[in-house]
Amino acid sequence: MKVITAISNMQKQMLTDKAQCKSIGFVPTMGFLHDGHASLLRKARAENDLVVLSIFVNPLQFGPNEDLDAYPRDFDRDNQLAEQLGTDYIFAPSADEMYPGPPSVVVKTTARTEVLCGKSRPGHFDGVATVLTKLFNIVRPDRVYFGMKDAQQVAVVEGLLADFHFPIELVAGETVREPDGLAKSSRNVYLLPNERSEAAFIYKALRLAEQMAAAGEKSAAKIQAAVETVIRENTTGQIDYLEILTYPDLEQVGELKGKIIVAAAVRFQKARLIDNIILTIE
Ligand code: AMP
Repeated sequence: MKVITAISNMQKQMLTDKAQCKSIGFVPTMGFLHDGHASLLRKARAENDLVVLSIFVNPLQFGPNEDLDAYPRDFDRDNQLAEQLGTDYIFAPSADEMYPGPPSVVVKTTARTEVLCGKSRPGHFDGVATVLTKLFNIVRPDRVYFGMKDAQQVAVVEGLLADFHFPIELVAGETVREPDGLAKSSRNVYLLPNERSEAAFIYKALRLAEQMAAAGEKSAAKIQAAVETVIRENTTGQIDYLEILTYPDLEQVGELKGKIIVAAAVRFQKARLIDNIILTIE
């Protein structure tokens, strides 16, 4: 496994590999790897000749009062895990390497971002779309791997790939969870012990939505109220949002029909957690 930090070296390496007709699977991350990232790396390993992992905590996607500086980092551990999983290259540029000065062009999202994290983190998805455009031009992957834990990100990337004609296939991986259902996240280390137990109720609440829908409940408002109650009654966290929308277009729904996302963001003292469940209603 090679660790590359310079953009020019990464581009050269990828051009050399592509000249030999190697297919490239790319897993973009912010590091502090866990089983969620590992599942994407395994998928990429199985489906491509070469696997590239990027580790970059992208300042552009963090708001002024968010956790950019506190975001957990452990490059040595990430390096070991990536190697064990058969990764070929880690691309780990510095912030100065990626943004040597203020950007002269940024990518602005115009759909699927007025809701959920796009609403509660203004500018977040413009930062995501901008860094991914840069990373896609550096790595030139054939396939790119994202987790459904960040379902809105998957929807936004789908739009980015289509609108900008990137010849890249998007592969979405299932959300990997702790035994009690909590979605794995780099930010879980910042939960206080009581918050860690309470956090399992986010997924329990989302599962209630699934059960209500399976029992025939069609009213988004009723399901939303029931899910909110479970989170409020069982956690000390503040609900940042709880929305039921169409997926992947993320439009409002009254009556459940077709593919639906139930998504929540809950703010604990030092960690804001997100999770979602996708339902397909006949
Ligand atoms: P991050 O490092 O948090 O930016 O995440 C990098 C990638 O891993 C994104 O595509 C995430 O959606 C994905 N990911 C994060 N957590 C999970 C999880 N629990 N299960 C599956 N994928 C995940």
